[in-house]
Amino acid sequence: MPYQAENAPALLSWLRSSVLLRHSLLFILWLAVWMLGLLVEYTEHASVWFPAAGLTFAALFIVGLRILPVLLLACVVITFWTVHYYQLQLTSWQTLQGGFLFGLAHIVPYYLGSQLLRRLAITTQCTLPLFVIGFILLAASSALIATWTVIAALVFAGMMSISAVSATWLPFWVGDMAGVIVLAPLFAAILSVFYPATTSLGQFVGPGQRFASRYFIYKLLLNLVLLSLAMLLANYADTPESAFAIFFLVIPHMWIACTESAFYTTLSVAISSFAIALLVNIFALMDYVMVYQFAIVVIGANALFGLAVPALMASNNQLRLVASTDSLTRVASRDYLQQRSELEISRSLQQDEPLCLMVFDIDHFKQINDKYGHSTGDQVLLHACQQAQQILRPADVIGRYGGDEFVVILPNTAKEAVVAIGNRIIERLQQIELAEQLTVSASFGVAALQPGDSFRSLFERADAALYRAKQQGRSQVAWH
Ligand code: GH3
Ligand code: MG
Repeated sequence: MPYQAENAPALLSWLRSSVLLRHSLLFILWLAVWMLGLLVEYTEHASVWFPAAGLTFAALFIVGLRILPVLLLACVVITFWTVHYYQLQLTSWQTLQGGFLFGLAHIVPYYLGSQLLRRLAITTQCTLPLFVIGFILLAASSALIATWTVIAALVFAGMMSISAVSATWLPFWVGDMAGVIVLAPLFAAILSVFYPATTSLGQFVGPGQRFASRYFIYKLLLNLVLLSLAMLLANYADTPESAFAIFFLVIPHMWIACTESAFYTTLSVAISSFAIALLVNIFALMDYVMVYQFAIVVIGANALFGLAVPALMASNNQLRLVASTDSLTRVASRDYLQQRSELEISRSLQQDEPLCLMVFDIDHFKQINDKYGHSTGDQVLLHACQQAQQILRPADVIGRYGGDEFVVILPNTAKEAVVAIGNRIIERLQQIELAEQLTVSASFGVAALQPGDSFRSLFERADAALYRAKQQGRSQVAWH
């Protein structure tokens, strides 16, 4: 059901009605997630992962430029707090300037990245896999640009020494990139509830993506247990190799991505990544912090690709259905019929079971077309197939060979039974009433499977019998 404002609970409607309230909440959320990053900081200015970057990217993606003043204000406020936290010797004026500079350096790259992604999302050719690739590339590149612009701003504002740059930029980048890849999808899904104007992005972040199976919580717990065990192992063994055990987490996350909706997948990735970042600090695994940072990025990116798997499978099934069905009569297409026939023929030959092929062709179909028009002719084909299908059994395969000619494969059936089936179909065809004085009939040819037969040889014999049925006056069954 489409998500409509009337369905939203009262609190949500109230939140949606007040821009100031929504912006204030976003402001508080930004400060809170910035602090969350500080909780898992392992060197000055570099966290295991930096959630504020994810929120900035998501806010700019969902809300656009209108959110810029809120983000800028948050950056200025946090700069005052940073100056206090690191006890930097700056005046209030210098801090204010530094805050603005930091804000712009942080926001502009993510604004560019998020807008490019928005453009990609609203193009008609944008499928989920393409969207995921675009997101990961733009997340990585805008995080890299933001790293350098922010570092330049911090150095310029006297909040970072130039000698610290070489040791800081890489962890800074990976932390920001992890924050965007892992958290921006979750924040975007949450923000799309409060800022619901983004209907064009609905297929990626809309309400259709917010449902969980009843096993979700167990899957999440299993993930957290595995994650803790992997990190406990690294803590116990204290070798670089043991730190890589965390990459096994790709497997359960992929499982979640293939079986849960986008929202719950990104939620589980966000929770796992926070747990990894926290346990790096608790288990004192700082020596291997980059392994964990990359693991967070890889798990996040992989889970996003995993989301595309069910979508790809569904579209593959759809394609298979289209390719195997005749669009007018809804019976099997010629290709599918041939494939199935070959299969049934070789199975029957192997198991020494009888099989018959019946071919039928509508009588004087050209005249029907000429007299009643092409669309009535189309209806005749459709109704003839429907009538035939009511007589056939589920194991029989009926397909359109071409024009007004159809083929039926009847496994496990002797020739006499097939002749009876053909006669019953002839009776059913007489019941078709599409126009006054329009009677529909067809002629049938039947051939039974013989050793060494292929679809072609069997079909040719049945077709020869059909020719005989036409010769003998039509509306009858002939066998070879
Ligand atoms: P016969 O009794 O000997 O079979 O005579 P016929 O007039 O039915 O001759 P034939 O089977 O050769 O005619 C096939 C005609 O079916 C020719 C073509 O114009 C028409 N046809 C083929 N495909 C379609 C279709 O998808 N829709 C319609 N309406 N006509 C089609
Ligand atoms: Mg015909």
